[in-house]
Amino acid sequence: MSLTVTGATLDGQEVGLRAEDGLITELGPDVEPGSGDEAIDASGLLLSSPMVNGHTHAAMTLFRGFGDDMPLMEWLEQKIWPAEAKLHSDDVYWGTRLACLEMIRSGTARFFDMYWHGTEAARAVVDAGLRASVSSVMIDGLDPAKGESMRGEVTESLDRIDGAGGAVSPSLGPHAIYTVSSESLAWLAEVAAEREISLQIHLSETEKEVTDCVEAHGKRPAAYLDDLGFLGPRTLLAHGVWLDQAELELIAERGATVVTNPAANMKLAVGGVFPYPRAADAGVSIGLGTDGVSSNSNLDMFEEVKLLALGQKQASGDSATLPATDALAIARGLRSEALGGTPLEPGQPADFLLLRGSDPELSAGDLDADLVYAAGGSIVDTTVVGGRVLMRDRVVPQAEELVAEVRARAARLTG
Ligand SMILES: [Zn+2]
Repeated sequence: MSLTVTGATLDGQEVGLRAEDGLITELGPDVEPGSGDEAIDASGLLLSSPMVNGHTHAAMTLFRGFGDDMPLMEWLEQKIWPAEAKLHSDDVYWGTRLACLEMIRSGTARFFDMYWHGTEAARAVVDAGLRASVSSVMIDGLDPAKGESMRGEVTESLDRIDGAGGAVSPSLGPHAIYTVSSESLAWLAEVAAEREISLQIHLSETEKEVTDCVEAHGKRPAAYLDDLGFLGPRTLLAHGVWLDQAELELIAERGATVVTNPAANMKLAVGGVFPYPRAADAGVSIGLGTDGVSSNSNLDMFEEVKLLALGQKQASGDSATLPATDALAIARGLRSEALGGTPLEPGQPADFLLLRGSDPELSAGDLDADLVYAAGGSIVDTTVVGGRVLMRDRVVPQAEELVAEVRARAARLTG
């Protein structure tokens, strides 16, 4: 199947793009549609790389706006955990479908997911047409014996996610160092190395996590994980708010990626910010994620990249910190090999956006600055992943049906 886009604007020039079998085959001023190509006239639209959401819990769209503005532990104990106890695997399918709809509408082509019932999440990703790394999740409550008894289940789930097809890749998702035992973390690191797959974990989200880790293990969280063989080029560490200099250097040396989640950190008032300037200086690979909808409360990476840039400027007291072009590269997954962001070039996957160049937010000024500071996800007109058009003119098939389905399921779960 081939797709040709003509009349788009890239770097101020009129260009076309041709995609064949999921890859960009031509990009430039003289691209002509082949016979039988699906054709898009992109006059007035800007060709752009898509976003990569480096950390989320997609199906938590089911719990949007449920118990906001509560203290963290009260919110978990009184709202989220009782609602999750009622969760069925098909709720995860529909919750993830709605998340995919939201991501398609706001220009995300690929995401990294950590949630229960990964098999159903993977099925939703395939049906939606996006790319995702979907986790087999593990929480053993720091009980190694329980962890050992869960191993079969974890690898079976991993195999099912691996077999989901489409553009889904499997990963392992232990929740955090304070919910998963050392023995289980070391085992998961071994499985990930054997299978050459990603590891996703929350790390150093709160200061308490760090002090508890030092008390229990005599070392800070990154050093603790490294001693378990957990840090490598396919490891994604979500949050990383409280990492010190030695931890940043260790993470850089191991080639692991820190995925920062500024909206969730602000909403849950963790009291700090990912130390971007020191991490960048140390050579840490960096990504950006929305975290789950429950703590954000949307999946719009255009909003997230603005919060990233503004939060870093505010924290450093220097408005030159994290310029727009660098922030965009992070949001597009181009500052971490593990995140798999790809540039717009022949030979690369045909993942791209067409943006509404005539919208007020993009009407004047530097494009990168406008994309970070002025735009929201609603400037995305067309989303293409693997050469397949998932949204055109802001229309995604089945959108109303997905909203209605999740509304009904959310009412049951939170009622
Ligand atoms: Zn998270």
